[in-house]
Amino acid sequence: MKSNYNSLFWRISAIFFLLLVCVGLSFEYITVHYSGLYFEEVNQQLNRNTAADIATNSNPFTDGKVNDKAMEQMFDHVMSINPSLEVYLLDKEGTILSYYAPKQKVLLNKIDLGPVKEYIETNGTKYVKGTDPHHPGRYKIFTVAPVINRNERAGYIYVVLAGEHYDTISENLSQSYLWKVGLRGILLTLLVALFVGLIIIRLITRNFSRILEVMQKFKQGDFAARVEMKSVGDIQQVGDIFNEMADILSTNGEKLKEVEVLRRELIANVSHDLRTPIAIIQGYIETLLIKADTLSDEERNNYLNTIAETTTKLQKLVYELFELSKLEANQVTPIKEPFFISELVNDISTKYQLIARENNILITTFLAKELPPVYADVSLIERVMQNLIDNALKYTPAGGHVAIRTIQKMQQVIISVEDSGIGIPENEREQIFGRYYKANNFTDLKNSTGLGLAIIKKILDLHNSSLELITKVDEGSSFIFTLPLYIK
Ligand code: ADP
Repeated sequence: MKSNYNSLFWRISAIFFLLLVCVGLSFEYITVHYSGLYFEEVNQQLNRNTAADIATNSNPFTDGKVNDKAMEQMFDHVMSINPSLEVYLLDKEGTILSYYAPKQKVLLNKIDLGPVKEYIETNGTKYVKGTDPHHPGRYKIFTVAPVINRNERAGYIYVVLAGEHYDTISENLSQSYLWKVGLRGILLTLLVALFVGLIIIRLITRNFSRILEVMQKFKQGDFAARVEMKSVGDIQQVGDIFNEMADILSTNGEKLKEVEVLRRELIANVSHDLRTPIAIIQGYIETLLIKADTLSDEERNNYLNTIAETTTKLQKLVYELFELSKLEANQVTPIKEPFFISELVNDISTKYQLIARENNILITTFLAKELPPVYADVSLIERVMQNLIDNALKYTPAGGHVAIRTIQKMQQVIISVEDSGIGIPENEREQIFGRYYKANNFTDLKNSTGLGLAIIKKILDLHNSSLELITKVDEGSSFIFTLPLYIK
């Protein structure tokens, strides 16, 4: 990992260095180029009147012809003052009539009048380049003035401001300037920028390497490893996102562990709880088979009834076990919808009337009037009601009664199932909600699994509700829960 970090650091640094070199060289080129142009423009402006002065002070034409003597004097004069100037006498069409310049190098005999006219029209205020007679196709800064002879334009004095002489010196100087000052300055700037840049890159990659280290720890099984650093921007975000991901992974891992524990518990419970009824069934069947000839009809019927009852109980136990296990493993998601609780209560109580009558128990309902719908999973709430009424009937002796009530309280409805049964002893009130708990108040265990209340509790948990118990031994019990009303 260390080497990865280093390679990232060095790769970014190398790219940064190359960028700096490119920027430095471009800067150098642009500076040299534009300072040259700037210098030329300044030079042209400073010498704006040079050609005009030469034209006025010399007398290039006498009787319409070139005055060679006057020209020679003027050329000598100019050369002694400024040897970098090249002076040309042109006729009206731009043909060179006479000039002062290194003679052997003048290759053109005509000057392009386009730039000349442009320069005169703008009165020398514009930066224009004109023909360089030494180099066909090359242009140089110049100054020009018309020559007037006998009140008419006879030609031009055309002065190339940066002549050959100037070129040679300027080239030498620019080379020396560039290498001695420019490059040194740029190198120094680059070094400083590189130094500062490397420190910044180091700081950034250091945070990145910290994140990698934490990731590595996490990968190796340290699920508590989290990125702790104060940074800004993307790096901080990477750290935060990793932490969130790690949290999710850890929570999921914990949940998986819980599910695994539940799964093992389920298998243990199922095998334990199923063993007894299966053993009973097996025992009776074997007895029936072995003593087939000796058993009376009554005895046979008794055995068969016991087998039938135990099978029913076994069926209920298996069903409830799976129901509770699914709820505990969070595999049941309530599908909530608005429905009328009074309708549900009426339906269920009607279904139970027959069993109640058989046991000589009276079921009555007291329902709140004009109750708005509740918002819950109708089939899960039906299961809750069934279990509560089952219990109420189971633990109420003949001649007793069971009442189901709905009462509206603000945005909720309170639902209670009350019985006049045997009640639950105080010391067992908490335990009865647990798995498999069967209170001592009840001795006939035929129809009891000890899972009913645990299932109810889980379903109500899913509805953010809870089950309340008010009970007194030998007087009866009330199981109460609330559901939210449906608000549009
Ligand atoms: P089961 O009824 O199958 O045993 P439950 O979880 O429904 O399982 O109930 C757990 C225990 O709580 C019961 O065994 C019983 O002792 C007690 N119990 C539940 N409801 C009542 C009730 N209405 N009256 C008296 N005791 C009750």
